[in-house]
Amino acid sequence: MIRQLRSIKDPEVIRAIKRACAARCKNVTLWHLGMIALSAVSTGALAGAIVLLFGLRGAAAWVVTFFCVALSVTVFVNAMIRRSYRVALPEILRSLGRCAECGYDLTGLQSDTCPECGTHIGPNAVG
Ligand SMILES: [Zn+2]
Repeated sequence: MIRQLRSIKDPEVIRAIKRACAARCKNVTLWHLGMIALSAVSTGALAGAIVLLFGLRGAAAWVVTFFCVALSVTVFVNAMIRRSYRVALPEILRSLGRCAECGYDLTGLQSDTCPECGTHIGPNAVG
């Protein structure tokens, strides 16, 4: 769970935020695909070294290689998605009238400081 979503209890609001984040995080560029390919190739090389080191042959060698590459690509893609969410989330939270740091609902708040986390939200932060 992303830190800012922990204080939001309404499941409808969480779903709306996740939908908005997912819509913004669909911009997969050539750089992303290149980094995924680089991750797969470098892990494939590491898996090859493991296969050689342990003298694996046949199915065992393929299983080790596939497992290493799949694990690497999964971890890498997960990290990229989480990073995209972290970048998009503060702006989405602000547009929904919530604190960009903790997700606290700032509707009707007179102060320029979030009562939940103490973050300065500025005079124009709440719509
Ligand atoms: Zn806050």
